[in-house]
Amino acid sequence: MRISSLGEFGLIEKIRKSSECSSPAVVLGIGDDAAVMKMAASSLLLATTDLLIEHVHFDLAFTDFPSLGWKSAAVNLSDIAAMGGIPRFCLSSIAIPSGISLEAVSGFYRGFSSLLRFHNTILVGGDTSSSKNGFVVSVTVLGESKKENVISRSGAKQGDRVFVTGTLGDSGAGLEILKSGHLGRGADIKNLIKRHIRPVPRIEWGRQIALAKCASSMIDISDGLSSDLSHICDASGVGAVLFSDKIPLSKSLIKTAKQLDENPLHYALSSGEDYELLFTVPSARMKTLESLRIPVTEIGKITKESNLHLVSATGRKTVLKPTGYNHFKGSMDRKKG
Ligand code: ADP
Ligand code: MG
Repeated sequence: MRISSLGEFGLIEKIRKSSECSSPAVVLGIGDDAAVMKMAASSLLLATTDLLIEHVHFDLAFTDFPSLGWKSAAVNLSDIAAMGGIPRFCLSSIAIPSGISLEAVSGFYRGFSSLLRFHNTILVGGDTSSSKNGFVVSVTVLGESKKENVISRSGAKQGDRVFVTGTLGDSGAGLEILKSGHLGRGADIKNLIKRHIRPVPRIEWGRQIALAKCASSMIDISDGLSSDLSHICDASGVGAVLFSDKIPLSKSLIKTAKQLDENPLHYALSSGEDYELLFTVPSARMKTLESLRIPVTEIGKITKESNLHLVSATGRKTVLKPTGYNHFKGSMDRKKG
């Protein structure tokens, strides 16, 4: 069905219905000039937004619409996770080119709403437009946290230990597979592709880390380990050393990297969109971290000097340049998936 047969307001009504979800916190949701929500007096408001542009951030040849909707929600929820917050409300703005069907947009909101619902996050507004050039999505998530639980990028101190949740590099390898299009459809390939097109925001883990107050700084891995660790270091005025043999890699990545004729570490260090949490822990807080039930790996240490180093399994120490996605910088430039 063509979107033109519904028109802008018919489409908005469809979006409203597909993501309907009531909450006493929402005084006025979709349908007025602005949404109105109640916030607890003791909470701080967290706000984050992300743009997803066709041909820059995604390629419709590599993703289905429900997955694109899921990912649009996931990348924003992940930013709330990285602050240790609870996501509450969401706004979505979409610009739709003429070739996109109503079924495609409905699929987008099916995927989008399924992840929001899982995290009790309510769609309260947005904007809808036609587009002359590609599908464009902008999502804003509002969350909350108590002041004492907010974790910024700037609290890392010399001697803190560096941790990461889950495994790294899967999403980057998944994108490479999609681009190359010739590695078949085995279970490992499917795992990696899934991690690229349906990333899982670590809301629950971020929340546990925040409530336990064991992290001195935290960030989500959207640009790549080396790049995101350098963001923590820059914000905290410190450096870091990473131990290459400690970086957690999935079995699927190790097997598939061989087929791609690439070192799996390359994906873990330089490719982004894993949406795992990278955080630092003072030694005195280690017992608290160990008491949490989260899959974490210690991968390095915060140092006084202001750059990054990588130490190999044999003890060889080299300077690690932050590489990852950077929209305007030639040397780091690569296209996202
Ligand atoms: P306005 O003229 O004030 O921009 P709109 O007609 O664009 O209002 O939108 C009507 C209502 O629908 C508003 O509450 C707006 O927040 C909501 N809305 C519009 N597009 C979307 C969308 N893509 N997702 C969620 N809510 C939307
Ligand atoms: Mg509008």
